[in-house]
Amino acid sequence: MVHHTPPRFQAAAFNCPLCGAYSKQIWLNMQRHYPTRAMIDGKELRIAQCTSCNKMTFWLDGRMLPPDSGSVPFRNPDQPDELKQD
Ligand SMILES: [Zn+2]
Repeated sequence: MVHHTPPRFQAAAFNCPLCGAYSKQIWLNMQRHYPTRAMIDGKELRIAQCTSCNKMTFWLDGRMLPPDSGSVPFRNPDQPDELKQD
């Protein structure tokens, strides 16, 4: 039986959308590391790092950006509006 925990904002662990492993997530402190990028159009940007593959997922205003979007959300702050609400 496969147990799958979908990514959830600020969850301590979930199935990584990048490597598929159920893994602990490290929520980076944007204010500390990237103070100039912590906000996009008034929305808070958060980054979660997978402890299995060490790759990062980007979350804007509590919603995960698609992992195949190039992982650089800074260029297209308007793009999240195209995301489907899951
Ligand atoms: Zn991963």
